[in-house]
This record gives sequence, structure tokens and C-alpha cells, in this order.
Amino acid sequence: MSSLSEKLMSQPAKAEGGSRIKQNNINALDQKRIATIKTAVLAEGDRIRAKYPILKHQDLIGMAILLLSIAGAVLTGWAYLEGMLAWYVTIPVIAVFLSFTHELEHDLIHYMYFRKNKFMHNLMMTLVWFCRPSTINPWLRRHLHLHHHKHSGTETDLEERAITNGERFTPLRLLMMLDLELSVVLRIMKVPKHLRLKALMRGAIGNFPLATVFYAGWHAYVAYWAVEAAAWAVGYNVPWPALVTPELVATANTVAVLIFAPNLLRSFSINFISSNMHYFGDIEDGNFVQQCQVLNSKWFIIPHLFCFNFGSTHGIHHFVVRDPFYLRQMTAKKGHEVMRANGVRFNDLGTFKRANRWEAKEQRREEAGYQAA
Ligand SMILES: [Zn+2]
Ligand SMILES: [Zn+2]
Repeated sequence: MSSLSEKLMSQPAKAEGGSRIKQNNINALDQKRIATIKTAVLAEGDRIRAKYPILKHQDLIGMAILLLSIAGAVLTGWAYLEGMLAWYVTIPVIAVFLSFTHELEHDLIHYMYFRKNKFMHNLMMTLVWFCRPSTINPWLRRHLHLHHHKHSGTETDLEERAITNGERFTPLRLLMMLDLELSVVLRIMKVPKHLRLKALMRGAIGNFPLATVFYAGWHAYVAYWAVEAAAWAVGYNVPWPALVTPELVATANTVAVLIFAPNLLRSFSINFISSNMHYFGDIEDGNFVQQCQVLNSKWFIIPHLFCFNFGSTHGIHHFVVRDPFYLRQMTAKKGHEVMRANGVRFNDLGTFKRANRWEAKEQRREEAGYQAA
């Protein structure tokens, strides 16, 4: 673990992210609104904790969710291998189990489980990483994520920018949400030449070793089937080397159902929701009212199935970091009420047209014209 992580581990309050933002960038009205929302969400969390004393056992609950998710994914995979489940049932069911492990990873980043037991804490971090081999090293993500809490929606918020937050909505953006390695390479092309090697090294270190292996396998698999499909279309038989046996292809197909597809489905869903529920570029640094919208329209039911309702509840987390993901879901009704009453936007679908900007271009131009005049 890096020295920064150790320091953060010994200073738990720092992981609470949002509460330490300097308020001088934020307009006075939103400062009041932020205080009101935080107070209401904290009170609701306290009320629920008092009502259900079992919630005190946070470490055990986290570990139980992790073990049940792993067991659920393994059992589903076993049922597929035994011919009891079709591929189109297996993939989404495993993706749902993996989505719980993603929420656990995020909670662990904020030291919500085994805060005082480094061994158990790091064991959980390792397990949630292995459950999601398409993702970056969680210890490295911790730095990006805590920075995200402080400066969400600004140029330096690399965590969200890496998953396309702030980009124009194009088919390429959709592809970048699906394939994070492709996203890294395309983003590096936009970096000034003299910084490219450094950016490439950072990307490679973050992905090493699990995502490196995952994407190498996935790209080889896609390349194989693309060549086969093209050859089939023109009636040609591809002379594959002897290494590519029918058994190898059958194994790769199984890996695709059990590992590639569930991970890509899960990560595409959260990347799609997350990169569009955060605003980018023209918000006040540290202003939680402007950082996120609540995206809980019924149009997003399917991606939400694979990311534990992220668009509905992640905005609450920007105000109050303390509560684990299941508790945040329980505070959502009250949280949404007070957020709605205090300027947080709900289902602002215009964000898709505005490249996630807070304001429409026209409005910005008008204001610029007004100021110039
Ligand atoms: Zn967080
Ligand atoms: Zn966020």
C-alpha cells in the first residue's frame, strides 16, 4: 500500500471527501442548500440506523454481501456449465452479482468496511478486484476517487473523464464506455505529445495485471470472430494456425459468457449512468448541488439493474459519504425530497445533448453577450 493510502487509513475523516471542501467557490444560496441537504440525509441515516440495530455490524454485512455475491456468480456459472441456464440468462444474472461487488469496492475506497483491520480490509479490496477483472487497481482508484469527490466536474477529475464524462455524445463515446482500454488509448491521443508516454505508463500501471489480461483476451476474441464473420460473408475458409483448435474456441466462448460479457455489461451500465449523471466543465468547484443530477427515470431501469441504481443514489453520496450503498438506498426517499427542494436537478436528459454541461450553450452565449455588452 502506498504511503498516501496509509496516511488516509490513519485519518479516516479524510475519506469523508465532501465535508472538507473549501466553500469559497460556491455561491451563497447553494452553500445553504448543501448544509440543508447534508443535515437531512445524515438525520435520515441516523433514524434508519436506530430503527435497525443490525446495521451496526457494518463490517460483517459488507463481508456477507461479498461472499454471497461471489457464491451467486459462481453458482450461476456452474448452472450454465451444467446446461441448466442459457447464455442470455447467465450473463445478466452474473452481471447483477458483480454490480454488488462494485458497490462494495466503492465503499471500501471510503474505508467503510474493516477500517481498523488492515488485513481484512485489503483482503476485501483484493476480492472485489478479482470479481471485476476489467477494472483498474482499486488502491490506485482510491486516489482518483477521493480527488473526484473534491473536484467533481473539473478538468482534473480524471476518474469521470476516463469514462467519457464531458465528451460529446457519439457512437465512439458509447464504444469508449464499453471498452475502457480503448478509452484510455483514445484519450491519450488527445494529450500533448510530450505527456503521452507518461499518460500511457499511468494507464498501463492502473490496468496491470487483471485488466491487461482481460482486455488482451477480449480483443483477441473479438478479432477472431470479426475475421470469421468477414470470411463467412465472402465464403472463405480462414487458415488459422494449429494453435487455434476447436477446443480453444469453445473454451473462449465459455469465458465470454462467464467473464467477458458480464463484466462488460456491468461496466458499460455504470459508465453510461455515471458519466451522464455528473456534470462537467461549467460548474462551481466543490458545489454538490451542481456536481450531480438524480437520474432515476424509468428509461434507465435496464442499466440501473446492473449498477445498483447508481444514478438515483450517487448524488446523495456526494453530500454524505458516510453511509454504505445499501443504507444510501434506504435514505433515498427522504434524500430525494430535500434534494429536489434545494436545487438538485432530476432526470435532466438535456445533459446528453450538452456534453454534460450544466448550462445550455445558447444560454452561456447569451450570458457572455450580456457581460460583453
Ligand atoms: Zn465516493
Ligand atoms: Zn461522483
